[in-house]
Amino acid sequence: MAIPKSLRLEFVTPERAIAHEDVDEVELPGEQGFFAVLPGHAPLLAALKTGPIWYRKGNDKHFAFISGGFTEVTADRVSVLAQVAERAEDIDIARAEASKRRAEERLSKPTLADFDAERARIAMLRALTRLQVARHSRTRG
Ligand code: ATP
Repeated sequence: MAIPKSLRLEFVTPERAIAHEDVDEVELPGEQGFFAVLPGHAPLLAALKTGPIWYRKGNDKHFAFISGGFTEVTADRVSVLAQVAERAEDIDIARAEASKRRAEERLSKPTLADFDAERARIAMLRALTRLQVARHSRTRG
């Protein structure tokens, strides 16, 4: 079978559509690590963790934040069903900074009766990743 020229990216969350477009490459944060998909990729199903995702059309690279979900890859399609995701340009930096401060505050007081280290660690990871995605996209286009 001939290798397809592009990939159809269908990227949604339960709340919104993030992208429906033809792209040349996608990089995803898999539970087992980051992986890139080019046209003609072998079929796979993978769980996604919290991390940055990007997709490229020519030299035009788009970044987004993703937290949990699944992807299904075929030779000419990448479907991303994310639990939570935002395009880089839609990330509210002030909100992510506030979330980071709250997590820092909680992690600095591990003696509090209701302290949940794992929850605070995950909140911190989400906030730091959102800031990284938003800034990366804003500085490098
Ligand atoms: P927060 O503590 O600010 O609520 P969170 O990590 O707990 O952050 P999530 O549960 O991941 O938030 O997301 C809840 C909803 O809010 C989702 O629709 C998500 O897309 C949106 N959201 C969360 N943080 C941001 C942000 N900084 N910018 C834009 N949308 C955000």
